[in-house]
Amino acid sequence: MSQEHYVGRFAPSPTGPLHAGSLVAALASWLDARAHGGRWLLRIEDTDAPRCVPGADREILGQLGVLGLVPDEPPLWQSRRTALYQQALDGLAARGQAYPCGCTRRDIEAALAAQGHEHRRHEERVYPGTCRDGLHGKPARAWRLRCGSEEEPVVIDWHDRRLGAQRQDLTHAVGDFILKRADGIWSYQLAVVVDDALQGVTHVVRGEDLADNTPRQLWLQRQLAAPAPTYLHLPLVLDARGEKLSKQHGAPPLALDDPLAALRAAARALDLPENDTGDLPGWLARATAAWARRWTAPARAAR
Ligand code: GLU
Repeated sequence: MSQEHYVGRFAPSPTGPLHAGSLVAALASWLDARAHGGRWLLRIEDTDAPRCVPGADREILGQLGVLGLVPDEPPLWQSRRTALYQQALDGLAARGQAYPCGCTRRDIEAALAAQGHEHRRHEERVYPGTCRDGLHGKPARAWRLRCGSEEEPVVIDWHDRRLGAQRQDLTHAVGDFILKRADGIWSYQLAVVVDDALQGVTHVVRGEDLADNTPRQLWLQRQLAAPAPTYLHLPLVLDARGEKLSKQHGAPPLALDDPLAALRAAARALDLPENDTGDLPGWLARATAAWARRWTAPARAAR
């Protein structure tokens, strides 16, 4: 099936080489682009410099090459695109959609405690709105995006190709979120939305752990008058303890002495049929056909 205009992407953060979990996102986004007759781009999301590992970007590019997952354009590095993020923020600020915030973490905790909120461990903090109407004499630290109000909450309804109908009350679940941090680092949300828009991305395929970021991104797209891509969030690969496979949990880098074995494992995680084709291009072609049967059928129920 060929779609005239499909642009997909894989957007790894270079915090380490690819592991079995990140390969699943890479392979799925590649297969979805190929199955739609579209283009597949690669973007290195290295805005959070303290978390990046030097050389991991090159290592990821090399790993993808060995696996036959080659982007249709030269990759982009977000760290070289900060002027574009500043431009987007300037526009939002000029329109009053973004505002400077002078709160420290401690200020936020104190304001929430004064409002009677108890802080449970690992609970997301909703910004109490202290600087919405001005800095109250404090120096600006970060920049935040307005996300509705008590009187007019922002509720985002969206559709995921696998998860079906989704809804989030952004005002109450997230609140005015950060676009640029106090240390000057651009937030993932701003960089991802600006780049998806500038690169003309029409389809986002990524892990389910990012699904709850999607309403923030959809809201930001609306504020920037950017079109919304179509989303597909995939089940995460879990380790033997049932935890998400991730670098933090010590997932080993992919062993690429046998690229087909790595691809076969990723395809199993994606619930694709067994594919014992013995050469890389042949394997990828067959996997693309299987993916197309499963994910490009016109009207399909959520699974
Ligand atoms: N850079 C993000 C990550 O590695 C993924 C961004 C995305 O696909 O939207 O978690």
